[in-house]
Amino acid sequence: MKNKIDYSSDWNLDPAPESTGHIKLKTKYNLFIGGKWVKPKSGKYFATINPATEHKIADVAEAGQADVDAAVKAAKTAYDTVWSKLSGKERGKYIYRIARLIQEKAREFSVIESLDSGKVIRESRDIDIPLAAAHFFYYAGWADKLEYAFPNRQPKSLGVAAQITPWNFPMLMIAWKIAPALAAGNTVVLKPAETTSLTALKLAEVIQEAGLPDGVVNIVTGYGKTGAMMVEHKDVDKVAFTGSTGVGKIIMKSIAGTNKKSTMELGGKAANIIFEDAPLDQAVEGIINGIYFNQGHVCCAGSRLFVQESVYDVVLRKLKDRMESLYVGDPMDKNTDIGAINSKKQLDVINDYIKIGKAEGADIYQPKCKIPKKGFWCKPTLFTNVAQSNRIAQEEIFGPVLAIQTFRTVDEVITKANNTPYGLSAGVWTDKGSKVFNLTSQLKAGVVWANTYNKFDPTSPFGGYKESGHGREGGLHGLEPYLKFD
Ligand code: NAD
Repeated sequence: MKNKIDYSSDWNLDPAPESTGHIKLKTKYNLFIGGKWVKPKSGKYFATINPATEHKIADVAEAGQADVDAAVKAAKTAYDTVWSKLSGKERGKYIYRIARLIQEKAREFSVIESLDSGKVIRESRDIDIPLAAAHFFYYAGWADKLEYAFPNRQPKSLGVAAQITPWNFPMLMIAWKIAPALAAGNTVVLKPAETTSLTALKLAEVIQEAGLPDGVVNIVTGYGKTGAMMVEHKDVDKVAFTGSTGVGKIIMKSIAGTNKKSTMELGGKAANIIFEDAPLDQAVEGIINGIYFNQGHVCCAGSRLFVQESVYDVVLRKLKDRMESLYVGDPMDKNTDIGAINSKKQLDVINDYIKIGKAEGADIYQPKCKIPKKGFWCKPTLFTNVAQSNRIAQEEIFGPVLAIQTFRTVDEVITKANNTPYGLSAGVWTDKGSKVFNLTSQLKAGVVWANTYNKFDPTSPFGGYKESGHGREGGLHGLEPYLKFD
């Protein structure tokens, strides 16, 4: 079978692969514009591959200027003629329908997500897809209650939202964007990341099945230049972007001086902080989850660990022991902890940072696990003897690479944790509630988890400070950027 993984590791658990027989995928995908599948006027297609096997899954259309123009026109027409005229209650019904259909097809969505992105099936099945459905349910509930959500402010929709998403949580990032946009009464042109277009295209099928009026959601695929065409389009009223800080800056420059509203969800370099009074086993499990979950392809990954000096030796030993038991391999296997790196390009970035870490004088540790021969893989990696100024402690790696430092006092760790250009998230591990409250008020991060990590809920806002972006997604805060007020 083409998609079979070449196991070269010494697995001591029987393989438990999720079946792929039930999914329906086309070999070639066109663009979803005005409620129909249309061939790209550009005439171009590109391959989307399975990063665990390097085999092609499907060809996907590459939208050019004429295609982006057609998608924005369809969204504007749908806004002017249908969606802006519909009551909140009616909009809510459609969003509920989409939520229910995602739930119904959750297994198919999860398998497609794992095949296309390399993330382990356990995560796409238990986190990405259920949370995506939960966001649609949550925002469906707000559609007819905007006046109550923002009392005395007369909320009004904006128009056409251009939405651009990354490859690390493909379907979840789409839900974070489409659900509040529709609930607030806007129409959408969405572009998924070029390496993970398939769940977006599956969602287009769900949108058709839900009977959403034509043009309310349009999905165009392509590379960064397609995204740039969307951002620059004169009929776009709002840009919602999740991706790297570098691209976020380019987008902000290109919309400067226009009336376009924006939300930027950008990179991160989160600090996880373990105090000597923390429940250490729980903390170690949280650190492992925080950095190795989703191969470290997480904007809020706890990629810097600060351990209080008195417990450093024991924490390091426990971390290394736990790393030895992690399974790296087939994303479709339910036992796997760490799946495939999303692309060759991202694997090269991670390997470059591992080289940089060594050259900077840090000490590297990787467990003995073997990795499959074909596909893109990176062993969980840990660096000790790291200095604050090291690039591995300052720059986003976006892979399973942890940089550990120590501290003695609370003030010292706050200064160290805040010493990066980013401010997306942080974690605090301690037995003392007072320490948690002290740190949450002083850490410059949009989200601070206490004695847990990577927990998400549709009712809770998420977003960053500093170079991690502006605006929030999730909760009522995530509705507000899709509205204007008198
Ligand atoms: P990326 O910036 O390379 O690409 C993101 C999206 O932008 C893709 O769809 C891409 O095609 C598109 N794009 C690229 N150039 C563009 C341009 N000039 N104009 C418009 N669109 C353009 O990021 P990535 O590598 O896909 O994702 C990883 C990054 O995303 C990391 O930095 C991560 O921290 C960040 N991220 C942030 C959050 C958050 O909520 N803050 C969530 C997930 C990922």
